[in-house]
Amino acid sequence: MSKQHDLIVIGAGPGGYVAAIRAAQLGLDVACIEREPALGGTCLRVGCIPSKALLESSHHFEEAKDGLKRHGVKVGSVELDLPAMLKHKDSTVSALTKGVAGLFTKNKITRYEGTASFTGPGALKVEGKDNVELTAKHIIIATGSKVAQLRGIEMDGDSIGDSTTALSYAQVPEHLVIIGAGVIGLELGSVWLRLGAKVTVLEYLDHILPGLDDEISKDALKIFKKQGFEFRLNTKVTGAKVKKKKVVVSADGMDDMECDRLLVAVGRWANTDGLALDKIGLQTNKRGQIEVNEHFETAMPGVYAIGDVIPGLMLAHKAEDEGVACVEHIVTGVGHVNYNAIPGIVYTNPEIAGVGKTEKELKDAGVEYNVGKFNFMANGRARAMGDTTGWVKILADKQTDRVLGAHIIGPRAGELIAEIAVAMEFGASAEDIARSCHAHPTLAECVKEAALGVAGRTIHM
Ligand code: NAD
Repeated sequence: MSKQHDLIVIGAGPGGYVAAIRAAQLGLDVACIEREPALGGTCLRVGCIPSKALLESSHHFEEAKDGLKRHGVKVGSVELDLPAMLKHKDSTVSALTKGVAGLFTKNKITRYEGTASFTGPGALKVEGKDNVELTAKHIIIATGSKVAQLRGIEMDGDSIGDSTTALSYAQVPEHLVIIGAGVIGLELGSVWLRLGAKVTVLEYLDHILPGLDDEISKDALKIFKKQGFEFRLNTKVTGAKVKKKKVVVSADGMDDMECDRLLVAVGRWANTDGLALDKIGLQTNKRGQIEVNEHFETAMPGVYAIGDVIPGLMLAHKAEDEGVACVEHIVTGVGHVNYNAIPGIVYTNPEIAGVGKTEKELKDAGVEYNVGKFNFMANGRARAMGDTTGWVKILADKQTDRVLGAHIIGPRAGELIAEIAVAMEFGASAEDIARSCHAHPTLAECVKEAALGVAGRTIHM
């Protein structure tokens, strides 16, 4: 006998668990299937959260070692207690994953622990700790993504590993080589560089952080090099082998490079293996993703997909918004995600954040725009913090002044971008931001000044 629910969500990452909670709020009888004992998905367990804990901790270490002097604070010798740092990361993760379990209880969501696969339309089986057959009118696939493999490289989860391995090195590597100058490579590279490793990044393209604003990508490269990162651009890695406890990395046009740890960070692939999509006549596209319509419904009526498993950016907050829009559409008939106002953040130092269009995208689309830019160097709060690297750039439509995009590199960029995302959601003009009072002295004044700059009237620069 199978158990029946109104809605079943497969996967308890940020997309899946948020969809489940929203559906329960809207009165549905909801179940969520997750194979890992801990809820929260890649983001909470081995992604966004543990990496941010290590970025925060390693930043404190670096500040204590070199940064506090500029504020007139002398500290004695500073030592790294890596086990304590890793413990802080683990306890952060554990508190948050338990928090999701608490939210499931509060919202009366039934949780099944095991691997889900389709047995037919509207029907699933769960295998694992729980073994059960389930049926539901609505099923959301929110199975996320997994680390992309590179041909010629076999990861051993130790010397040659992925982002999960790099969250738990028991010692600071002497030489860490990273394949890929994307978000993961630069965030985790920053952690180990700050803790004392030599870090070399091998990147296939001629620039770092593909997809970001070109000016940010160029400035970030200069800043990261100054911090001690070594970059080899235009370098296609072709293989790596462990020889006498060292990893030897081969790439086109480069002598073999030796290191003690290799981190493969060349992207992520949609997680669709084992779902038995063929049982409901669904196919994945060439990239292994599930195609959906504007309401996240797949070619099989009643089956939906959200987050990393569908085409688009692989971001936790995008998955969350899709989860909410998907269930709201199921229940109320209305649900929408504005893909133009989804911020993206790289949690390096300085932080990097963007929302909306890049200049390249606007140029390619033939859109005429004005640019307003303001440097943190000219901001009182940034000066007081002793953290003046970077700038805010706002792009606005030449005719209407509507904000089309914004790009920030600098202190707290990840927090500052929220204001512009909200402004874009409300269809604001640059003038709207410029005429909103921003408290003094704050970093947010740089956003106001950049908005003033769109009309050529920055005050402080
Ligand atoms: P990415 O796609 O951002 O970067 C991968 C890089 O690897 C690219 O620059 C690519 O050119 C390079 N590359 C590929 N093959 C190569 C080869 N053979 N030799 C050398 N270089 C090669 O991927 P990622 O950094 O692994 O991140 C994966 C996903 O996770 C992304 O979608 C990212 O947005 C997401 N993520 C986001 C955050 C965040 O929002 N802060 C943090 C971590 C991950």
